[in-house]
Amino acid sequence: MSEADERVWVPKMVQRVLRAEQRRRTPPGEEDLLAWSQRLSDRYLGGLAQPDSVRWVDNQGSRWGSCTPGEKTIRLSTRLQQMPRWVVEYVIVHELAHLLEPGHDARFWAWVRHYPLTAKAQGYLLGWSAAHEIEPPPGETEPEPE
Ligand SMILES: [Zn+2]
Repeated sequence: MSEADERVWVPKMVQRVLRAEQRRRTPPGEEDLLAWSQRLSDRYLGGLAQPDSVRWVDNQGSRWGSCTPGEKTIRLSTRLQQMPRWVVEYVIVHELAHLLEPGHDARFWAWVRHYPLTAKAQGYLLGWSAAHEIEPPPGETEPEPE
């Protein structure tokens, strides 16, 4: 690279790296969350779960997400923004499944298990709660086999 080239390209490369970093740190907005949820519903729930809104909230207590089936709204804890993508996807699939089955019964878990990383994500979230000395949210983890 000539010096003249460097003067042109180095700032461009720096810009590109900074923008990529920005993207990594910026959590998806509501439209992106809705589109992401739709893709997960199509892939794992036969497209049957159709939320009207999916948004971040920071008042979820110990919960990772919540769903109001009557209003078709899903809320996700902002704590998830620091977690791996596959963990967030599990929580989205979990809340989407509540649009089909409000309780945590066998039919509910049968839907959620379509997401292949369910057990791993539950382990991650239980470990996170233990590390932060927070009680895990009741009923939100699949019961152990009897
Ligand atoms: Zn639940």
